[in-house]
Amino acid sequence: MLRVGITGGIGSGKTTVAQIFSLLGVPVYNADHSARRLMNSDKNIREAIVKLFGQESYKGTELNRSFITSKVLENEKNRALINAIVHPATIADAENWMKQQKAPYALKEAAILFESGAEKNLDFVIGVYAPEALRIRRTIKRDGRSEAEVKKWMSRQMNEDEKMKLCDFVIYNDGNHSVIDQVLSLHKKLLNLAARQSASPEKE
Ligand code: ATP
Repeated sequence: MLRVGITGGIGSGKTTVAQIFSLLGVPVYNADHSARRLMNSDKNIREAIVKLFGQESYKGTELNRSFITSKVLENEKNRALINAIVHPATIADAENWMKQQKAPYALKEAAILFESGAEKNLDFVIGVYAPEALRIRRTIKRDGRSEAEVKKWMSRQMNEDEKMKLCDFVIYNDGNHSVIDQVLSLHKKLLNLAARQSASPEKE
């Protein structure tokens, strides 16, 4: 089975595009959701986060997301420290999930993919591209966050043009290209690549 990543900056439309692949029957792993689940359920992660940021990190059994977000936005060091706790566990969880999938290919959706080194476990990476102004508008509308907050998040992410150069395929979600047509065409391509891989399994 092919392992395919799908990435893009905040508000680029990764989740929206991944949902179309999912409708086509492609299994999709959402790294953000899994990271959140692991932060709530994994005892070691929980202990490490409390050690790092204190008891306020959790409200009862639930992660105190607004507190953690404020810590992450506070400085680069905090972001790196929490990523060092959460990323290896999420990468391992995704690997486990991938092994259980029975499909020609499966998708791993992650905002941070190259940054965390997760692309090493993947055969191909799809980038979802949208211009910055559109990403800002979409995110404000979706989350009700301020423009300043969205821009702050964006400034912490890898430059979009650089990220897209690292991708094997790019889907343009810029309002000028049909996303459905692009997904259908890429789906066909990936099914062909998967068929080729299973015809020469020694390369798996
Ligand atoms: P994040 O990294 O912040 O989770 P994302 O890349 O997963 O973002 P989405 O949540 O898929 O992005 O999209 C952001 C918002 O923009 C959503 O509200 C979504 O419905 C909307 N959106 C995405 N693509 C389109 C589109 N082509 N047309 C209209 N709205 C769109």
